[in-house]
Amino acid sequence: CGIIGYLGNHEASPFLVEALKRLEYRGYDSSGIATINNGVLDRRRAVGKLVNLSDVLVHAPLPGKSGIGHTRWATHGEPSEVNAHPHRAGKVAVVHNGIIENFRELRAELSQKGLVPVSETDTETVAMLTALHIQEGLSPVDAVRKTLDRLEGAFALLFLFDGEEDLMIAARKGSPLAIGHGDGENYVGSDALALGPLTDKITYLEEGDWAVVTRHSITIFDREGNVANREMRRVSLDR
Ligand code: GLU
Repeated sequence: CGIIGYLGNHEASPFLVEALKRLEYRGYDSSGIATINNGVLDRRRAVGKLVNLSDVLVHAPLPGKSGIGHTRWATHGEPSEVNAHPHRAGKVAVVHNGIIENFRELRAELSQKGLVPVSETDTETVAMLTALHIQEGLSPVDAVRKTLDRLEGAFALLFLFDGEEDLMIAARKGSPLAIGHGDGENYVGSDALALGPLTDKITYLEEGDWAVVTRHSITIFDREGNVANREMRRVSLDR
């Protein structure tokens, strides 16, 4: 339901939790974050209010300066820790708004390769498919590109990869996503409000766009895979 991503020079967890708080107004039943610390991807999730996630983080902190976060409004699979985002398969963590309409078909394909999901969500198939493409030898960018070609439905997605401290990949089809420009930092949010205190320089992804984000670069591609020039706007929010 709410998405946030941070590639910066500070600890990601507090920023992620703060941003998720600003997205609370959208409603949610569970939440979670993933970070990369010394190249290692890890995650924490909790059912219910964000304070439950904060409690988990007090007892099991999640260091790292790269991270993604999510508040979930369950569509496929009950609200539970196992169904909460980020979902993970192999090197891939993903957060997702919306619905992957053809996930049953994708799941059947994956199960023919012996790959079995642990959650009931449509989202996990996105992580599994992308992890499979990486295992088959594709780079994270090419793996995501190949995954996006297979997805039907309306969604916003944000990916993070084990071993890749300086990479997030965002994709938009039917569900909004905003990229925030910082100084040696960059951000992704499901709306500009999530990014409010971080930056007022925002680029909205257009329908079918996907973006490769590092700390120092934001490259946006259109649905055909061509580099797209999208306008950066100043969005003044009460900061
Ligand atoms: N369909 C996904 C799920 O049920 C994402 C729901 C959302 O937008 O939060 O987990």
